[in-house]
Amino acid sequence: MSVAPSPILPVYSPPDVVFERGEGVWLTARDGRRYLDFIAGIAVNALGHAHPKLVEALAAQASKLWHVSNMFRVAGQEELAQRYIDTSFADYVFFTNSGTEAVEGALKTARKHHSANGDLDRIEIIGFQGSFHGRSYAAINASGNAAYLDGFGPRLPGFVQVPFGDHEALTKAIGPNTAAVILEPVQGEGGVRAVPDQCLQGLRKLADEHGFLIIFDEVQCGASRTGKLWAHQWAGVEPDIMAVAKGVGGGFPMGAFLVNKKAANGMTRGAHGTTFGGNPLAMAVGLACFEELAKPAFLEHVTAMSNHFGQALEGLRDRYPGLVLEARGKGLLRGLKLSVDPKPLQAALRDKGLLVGVAGDNVLRFAPPLIIGSEHVTQAVAILDTALAEAIRPQA
Ligand SMILES: *Cc1c(COP(=O)(O)O)cnc(C)c1O
Repeated sequence: MSVAPSPILPVYSPPDVVFERGEGVWLTARDGRRYLDFIAGIAVNALGHAHPKLVEALAAQASKLWHVSNMFRVAGQEELAQRYIDTSFADYVFFTNSGTEAVEGALKTARKHHSANGDLDRIEIIGFQGSFHGRSYAAINASGNAAYLDGFGPRLPGFVQVPFGDHEALTKAIGPNTAAVILEPVQGEGGVRAVPDQCLQGLRKLADEHGFLIIFDEVQCGASRTGKLWAHQWAGVEPDIMAVAKGVGGGFPMGAFLVNKKAANGMTRGAHGTTFGGNPLAMAVGLACFEELAKPAFLEHVTAMSNHFGQALEGLRDRYPGLVLEARGKGLLRGLKLSVDPKPLQAALRDKGLLVGVAGDNVLRFAPPLIIGSEHVTQAVAILDTALAEAIRPQA
């Protein structure tokens, strides 16, 4: 089928399907076909589609006030910030429109901290190979992915990357000019790889010894996706700065960076800003979303579903050993590492009514809404089973 010409800049190549409505874990396309959504707008629709509480919060705010900008105190900001602070390491919150902006602000905060301390040469940011932090200049330089850097001019100074999980390389890269280490506690785009708890604990030790800051990028793995509100809480380790977005807005574009008192010392009046970040619509939805995400029973539900789904994925690895090399991830951010390019399988699954993502390192990626029930897991795994069977035994 030939695809009609589109006025949209062709940096994506979406399949020929347009969704018209969503309800819970289900999406309905224009032609009436229903799809089980196991990618949730890339870990965004944490409460599924059209969650009644989010719909109500947005509609109520929409009829009251949309925007005043941060030159005024914005209704809802302090309340939501306080909720984040009460449930994390942080002392301050800055609201953004996206994950990239949250990362950008986090990186700026780290450098400004050292600059405010008179450490003007401490600008170096250490990241990890296979990481993803967004598409701004700082974000692509922090992750160092050549495909995202190519053609966009010289690399920015002050960014280096070390191999994932390589403690020795990390230790070697650390020096007197190290400002911060940025890391996703569970790598999303790079291949759905969870960083072991002891690595996060080791990183904290290094940071305290050498005086650099830790930035956790929880844009994808935060917001209760792993069964804890913030993914790093499994390791009992605290960062100095954390970037969040995606799931915290439940589908409304919003993000934030969270900072502890020590790291925040450079971010004084005029040091940073945003026009839209933290606007009243975002705050209304973000607050309603957070109320659900933070409930202990909700987190228990995520853990139960993630155990169920994780075991089922291990089962698929056992059944298709040549094709499925590994079941990976944490909570409801999961992946199957394949021996082949996952894209044809992703398309085959879509044809069978299951939406999934892909990630680097030949990984089929799953990030379902956190409200899924056992029946959805069972259904998704049955479709996966059929598609994997067909992939190893192509039909005539
Ligand atoms: C998606 C993502 C980002 C970028 O977020 P945007 O909202 O697309 O700007 C940054 N970091 C991680 C870990 C992500 O998954």
